[in-house]
Amino acid sequence: MNKSEQLFEQAKNTIPGGVNSPVRAFNGVGGTPCFIKKADGAYMYDANDKKYIDYVGSWGPMILGHNHPKIKQAVIETAENGLSFGAPTELEIIMAEKVKAIVPSMEKLRMVSSGTEATMSAIRLARGYTGRDKILKFEGCYHGHADSLLVKAGSGALTMGVPNSPGIPEDFAKHTLTVSFNNLEEVKEVFASIGDEIACIIVEPVAGNMNCIPPVEGFLQGLRDICDQYASVLIFDEVMTGFRVALGGAQEHYTITPDLTTLGKVIGGGMPVGAFGGKREIMDYIAPVGPVYQAGTLSGNPIAMAAGLAALNEMSTQDLHTDLAAKTKQLALGFKAAADKHKIALSVNYVGAMFGFFFTEEPIVTTYKQATECDAQRFKLFYHMMLDEGVYLAPSAFEASFLSTAHSAQDIQATIDAAERCFEKLANQ
Ligand code: PMP
Repeated sequence: MNKSEQLFEQAKNTIPGGVNSPVRAFNGVGGTPCFIKKADGAYMYDANDKKYIDYVGSWGPMILGHNHPKIKQAVIETAENGLSFGAPTELEIIMAEKVKAIVPSMEKLRMVSSGTEATMSAIRLARGYTGRDKILKFEGCYHGHADSLLVKAGSGALTMGVPNSPGIPEDFAKHTLTVSFNNLEEVKEVFASIGDEIACIIVEPVAGNMNCIPPVEGFLQGLRDICDQYASVLIFDEVMTGFRVALGGAQEHYTITPDLTTLGKVIGGGMPVGAFGGKREIMDYIAPVGPVYQAGTLSGNPIAMAAGLAALNEMSTQDLHTDLAAKTKQLALGFKAAADKHKIALSVNYVGAMFGFFFTEEPIVTTYKQATECDAQRFKLFYHMMLDEGVYLAPSAFEASFLSTAHSAQDIQATIDAAERCFEKLANQ
């Protein structure tokens, strides 16, 4: 047994499945998860001291690479003054102003400690503001594990084949309407029948929890128009796309303005942070000014704010996103060319610094159905071959992978070369 295998066995005695979040258990690809000892820049090192080029980036936060010196310094300096006060700090104002400057649709915002909290709070706010119970989401989109949102959700739930988790009363789930991503006609149909009961549409503007599926032309604008027509709240869940698809997120990239936005991952620079915000009029429904209750002992925690602020400052002082998008495109097209060379059917999607690849004959993947019909067995084989090559991709065919500014041209080329060797092996199997 190697060290990761030993640790996994030990972990399973005290931690359900040996992990603190299901997708880490490698359920989607089988085998033993890599237990990580340390990470730096574009690389992670496991318990056996094997080095990987990392395309997970802690599932998104590490857009500047691991262990970024400015973020680390901000955390250490801020920790000198104490870890948490449960009282307001100036840092929270600076952070809110910074986020608002980058994402102007967030006229007011509130910090929370995870993406789940951000989406859960935004949904409650939309319901409180409109006085309506129903919400509309899309099959394959994941918005965290709050009860109303874990209905036909993607991510870990999809991988494990339990799209509707036990423990969620049907009475909750029945208020969540689920339609197909990228299918405006279905949304229109639902709204035509019960539009005045729907509090909000929540959408990942680029779906990243059923692999990577960008919106088709007109989809997001269509959602905007429908919400305007029926006075429903449009929520962009930018937990994954925020500061990644573009500095100002998918709403900047596609120039669509949602009413509310949820953020997570990058906004904390690696610390547990999320945020939700949007139109002033809606945000003023939140306690203590408004009637909708929402709170958090560690919300706006100084260390988390310092880390997040350092990350946002670093990103907004220079144009990193053009380069990130170019590198992501190079990697995705490199995978495609390498697969073509060995006659492996592969389709790739990429937007900004997020990408996905699908083992399918379909030239372009735009739907959840297409994503779920891909060759899962081939993905598993490829995944482990790449891991052996020292490339750490998202351990699920239903997750997007991420690039960081720390990935060098050599890292990208080494990854494409490794992929080509793996495609060749797959072709010969
Ligand atoms: N929304 C989206 C789009 C996500 O990708 C995730 C997490 N992968 C969440 C919400 C939930 O965030 P967290 O895991 O921080 O609760």
